[in-house]
Formats: sequence, C-alpha cells, structure tokens
Amino acid sequence: MADKRSRNLGGAAIVVVGLGVTGIACAKSLPRLGASVVVTDVRDSLIGLENQIATVESAGARFVPRDEASKMKSDILVISPGLAPDDPRVAHFTNNTGEWVSEIELAYRISKGRILGITGTNGKTTTTTLAGRMLSAAFPDTRVAGNIGNTFMEAAVDSVDDTVFVLEISSYQLEGCSMFKPDAAIELNVQPDHLSRHPSLEIYAKVKSKLIGNMGSGTFALLNKDDELTAGMAKATKAEVIYFSTKKELAEGACVKDGALLLRRQGEEAEFCKVSALQLRGRHNLENVLAASSAAFLMGAPREVINEAALEFTGLEHRIEPAGVVRGVECVNDSKATNPDSTRAALETFAGRELTLILCGDDKGFDYTALYGEIRAAGARVVVMGKGLARIADEMEKLGGIEVRRAADMAEAVRTGLDITPENGVLLLSPGSSSFDMYRNYEERGNDFKRETAKA
Ligand code: ADP
Repeated sequence: MADKRSRNLGGAAIVVVGLGVTGIACAKSLPRLGASVVVTDVRDSLIGLENQIATVESAGARFVPRDEASKMKSDILVISPGLAPDDPRVAHFTNNTGEWVSEIELAYRISKGRILGITGTNGKTTTTTLAGRMLSAAFPDTRVAGNIGNTFMEAAVDSVDDTVFVLEISSYQLEGCSMFKPDAAIELNVQPDHLSRHPSLEIYAKVKSKLIGNMGSGTFALLNKDDELTAGMAKATKAEVIYFSTKKELAEGACVKDGALLLRRQGEEAEFCKVSALQLRGRHNLENVLAASSAAFLMGAPREVINEAALEFTGLEHRIEPAGVVRGVECVNDSKATNPDSTRAALETFAGRELTLILCGDDKGFDYTALYGEIRAAGARVVVMGKGLARIADEMEKLGGIEVRRAADMAEAVRTGLDITPENGVLLLSPGSSSFDMYRNYEERGNDFKRETAKA
C-alpha cells in the first residue's frame, strides 16, 4: 500500500469517537493541521465529562452529542482503542465515513521521522521505556509515546525528520491501522489475554502481526524466537527478520552467549552488556533488554549508550518491584502481572527460592492449568485473595500438591503469606489477573500490597 504520510489535512472532516485520551489528543492536534474535528462519545451520560468537553472546545474542535454526530458524514473516523470496532454503538459512525482508523494510524500519517514500534502481551512498557532511554541518549529528539501514556498524535504533530519515536502499541490500537509502518518493530510475545475482545489466540496474534505487516526493505522486525506465535510471524512481513532468543544461541540474530547479550547479523557481531551486570531480574527481562538493545543498535544508537542505559535501568514500579524485607522474607510487588504468562515469568524469576505467591483479581476465564503445574513444580505456596478468583483455590485443591490459603483482603493475604513463608523466602504479589474486582487499577493494588508489607 502506498505510503500516504502527509501533514496536510486541509479541509478533512474528522469525527472522533471517544471523549478520553484519544478524543482530547485529536482535538488538540488535528485542527492545527487544517482539519475540521468533531469529538463525540457513546456513553449514555455525559455527567462528569464537562472538563473534557471544555478542553476539546477550547482546542478548536467541536463536541457533538452522539445521536447528532452519528449522522454526520466524515472523511476519516477515529475510534478510541477502548471501543471494539464491531461494538454496535459505533456502527452508525462507520457507515457514514470514508474510512475508520485508530489514533496511531492517523498520527503516523501526520508524523515525520523514524519509528520503533513495540508490541506483545507482556513487557511492552518495560521494553519501550528502556529502548526510549537508549535512543534518547543517541538521538536528542526521541519521543516515547503510544499506549505508555502520552499519545503518538500529540507527539507527532510537530515532529521533524530527525525525530525518533519509540511507541508502545497495544492490539486494540493495531486494529485500526492500515498504512502504519515502523522502521523497526519488536514482537515480544503473544499469550492468552484480552480474549473477550479477540475471539481466539490466533486472531489476537494476527492483529499483533499487523505491526510488521507493511514493513519492507531497510526495516527490521525483531521476533521473539522463544514464543511460539511471534516466532511464526516471519511470513507476515517483508522486513528483515531478526530473531531473538534467551534460550538458545543463534547463528544469526540476537541471543545470550558466554553470559553477554549479542547480536549476530550478516557476519558481524555486536556485543552488548553482561547479563550479570544488569539490575533487572528474570529471564523475561533479559528478553526485553535483548530486544531493546538490538533494536536501538539497528536504529543507529552506539553500543556504549545502549549498554549504559541497560545497566542503569532498575525496572518500573509494580513489575517485580522490591517491596522490602519483613522478618527475613523478601517482599515483591508484581501487581502489573494481569495474565497467567506474566505470573509464570515472575515464578521463573525466583526459581530455587522458597516462595509464596499471592493470586487475585477478576475471573477473566483464563485457563490456569499450566500455571498450577509450574507452581507445584516450584513447591510454591499460594494465597488466593478475594472472591474474584476464588475458583482457582478450589481448582488447585482438587489438583493437590499445592498448599493453598484464602484471604479476604490484602492485609490478611500479606499476614498469611508472611506466616507461611520461611526465612530467606519470597512473598510475591503476582496476581495473574486484572484488579478491577477490588481496586480501580493495578497501581492501587500494588500500593495496597506495599502499604501492608511496610506495616507488617
Ligand atoms: P505491558 O506493558 O505489556 O503490560 P509491562 O512491562 O508493564 O508490560 O509488564 C507487565 C507484566 O509482565 C509484569 O508483571 C512484568 O513482570 C511481566 N513481563 C515483562 N516483560 C515480560 C516478558 N518479556 N514476558 C513475560 N512477562 C513479562
């Protein structure tokens, strides 16, 4: 497909559905480029959204209630990633537009400069942050954006040819992409999650592979060889494929050799940092560092700045975050582990240690059978907190071989966990599901854990 990157939106009628981050970013950016922008929302009530509406209007866009907006013809329709494209509430809008896109797609079209795009079920924010630090040290106008917080749209509007974007991209954002084409891309992994939106794991993987679908010669697709679905994505791209693996040495690609990270490409070798010098813990984080280092290097960052950024990085809050030592027990907050694979990664991180795992969260219908096997093999004890995931306590008891306790809230979970964990052991909050059964978000849940361990 022809690349239609242009900043001239003169006269385009754009309707944006979603008065959240996307709507506000479009309202702030697109009128400056000559577009006529209408923002709307499909929620039944607009009470409490007065500030957002005022922001949209003061930025030079118009807020129009949904019934009226759905009848308006648009050249381009932008749908917030929070809304599924087949949501019946957006059908009227999609019928009245030339094309519908995600904010990422439209931001791409108005952007200048180079792009590193990063996706995966787990590890996006960590890898994006780290790659952002590596590239910032090499290219002064590096902008980290996307799903990580600040929008690509707002970062794109005044970008220049020397800009380097490091973008965290979710599957929901990829659904609305058609021409988006990064210069380098990382596919970290595809594991069960978000399956209420994506009907099967295969369809979810297909959406994830859209990140690399438009890439061609001179671009790099970094694919995790240790993850079945990302390892199989080479056929989805015409980019140069660079596999990475932390499990086996690769003759071509990025891997670990003699305790150091290494990229082998076309007969040349670039050695990055030593594994033992990293502050980040866990093999999963090694994947993230290996992918970020290789991508930054392929985009032109020198090895020295790459290694410095990797060695300085202590990780992000709520991801294998140290939460103090209580009576000889190391407490670890991994509240961001919102699916079974991220909890598996946390378990692997503490292999060989006496461990108690706190599991909790909404019942998203995950199959935890494989995780139970890992818990049993590790000899870990489990505290199941709250009612959301109560069924997994029953399932583990039925299976046998795992010591299972139940706790009503975080205070009881931490108390019980500390009681049953031997000295020098680990008490790990790595819930395996999202937090909405008891908290507003994973940050609140992690903070509650940290408060309780600090009190204990
Ligand atoms: P995302 O932005 O994709 O949610 P994060 O970096 O915020 O990723 O990490 C989310 C959770 O996944 C944390 O519990 C973290 O320890 C775990 N994690 C990070 N990287 C990986 C990886 N490569 N594979 C599996 N789990 C990972």
